[in-house]
Amino acid sequence: MNWQGVIEQYRRYLPVNEQTKVVTLLEGNTPLIPVPRFVDAIGGRFELYLKLEALNPTGSFKDRGMTLALTAAKTRGAEVVVCASTGNTSASAAAYAARAGLRAAVVLPHGKIALGKLAQALIYGARIVPIDGNFDDALNLVRALGDEPGVEIVNSINPFRIEGQKTAAFEICDALGRAPDFHFIPVGNAGNITAYWKGYKEYHAAGRVGTLPRMFGWQAAGAAPIVENRVIAQPETVATAIRIGNPASWQAAVAARDESGGVIGSVTDGEILHAYQLIAARDGIFVEPASAASLAGVIKAHAAGDLPAGSVLTATLTGHGLKDPDTAISVSDKLRPPVKPTLSAVLEVIRG
Ligand SMILES: *Cc1c(COP(=O)(O)O)cnc(C)c1O
Repeated sequence: MNWQGVIEQYRRYLPVNEQTKVVTLLEGNTPLIPVPRFVDAIGGRFELYLKLEALNPTGSFKDRGMTLALTAAKTRGAEVVVCASTGNTSASAAAYAARAGLRAAVVLPHGKIALGKLAQALIYGARIVPIDGNFDDALNLVRALGDEPGVEIVNSINPFRIEGQKTAAFEICDALGRAPDFHFIPVGNAGNITAYWKGYKEYHAAGRVGTLPRMFGWQAAGAAPIVENRVIAQPETVATAIRIGNPASWQAAVAARDESGGVIGSVTDGEILHAYQLIAARDGIFVEPASAASLAGVIKAHAAGDLPAGSVLTATLTGHGLKDPDTAISVSDKLRPPVKPTLSAVLEVIRG
């Protein structure tokens, strides 16, 4: 049968019943792609598979959780869904709210949202409330809005979000026929690392896989509250999707790390942008900077000697590179001035 979205595919593992009217854009079923050229470039002797979450309907993994969150909101009779967002949550909430026939309202840190994500929230028809504050301020406001009648919060503090997002771990196990040895993932608000770990554990408990991966999560060095074990008041990083100083799922992320024998480490913006360019140039995969934190983490763990030869690694690439074209252009060679429209002039540029 054709793919029906993550709720239909994994119904028995999710909080839905026969009567549930599912709100879906047929998210999920994203590719798990091997990247041998990237592994060669960094001198690795492991297998690395990337979960391309950019290929969800709004271009990020947020859609997996949003199908469940909007399904639940609709079932409960909500009128408005609200979220704070570094961008992708608002894009996804706005799309799924449109699909459900509900209003979406998004509270955003003014001037800190990648252009493509803002464009998405606007075109899907969300009510956008920019604030003079950062993501953490926005989330505090949204928590208060949740007490208003008819309002449903769809940030990852909404447990339905985590439930939906865990389906990515199921898909990875289904595609590999086993669990990976290591799973690499960026950590912002820490909902996704929480969701993956939950998914791997549930699949293991259900007998679908025989082992569990070690969870290797990565924060940006300027926004690394879990690594530094303190709230970061003014988080800063080029990876805007993980520019978070006080993660909502902090304790659950620490539990995922400790239960799995994993690591939550940090990578610098320089390391993130290096991985960002390398995966595009070596394997033709264009992700947004936050996604490249996974790969910067692979490079760092490999350099530290943590990845035995023959290991099977998976890494989540959380969102699409086209959402943040400014960063791609700023790290690339400048566009050249035009040349004469002659074969020799063009060849000179190509061969030069
Ligand atoms: C939301 C998001 C993250 C961070 O995920 P958390 O669940 O907040 O840790 C990373 N990358 C992208 C592209 C995102 O949209």
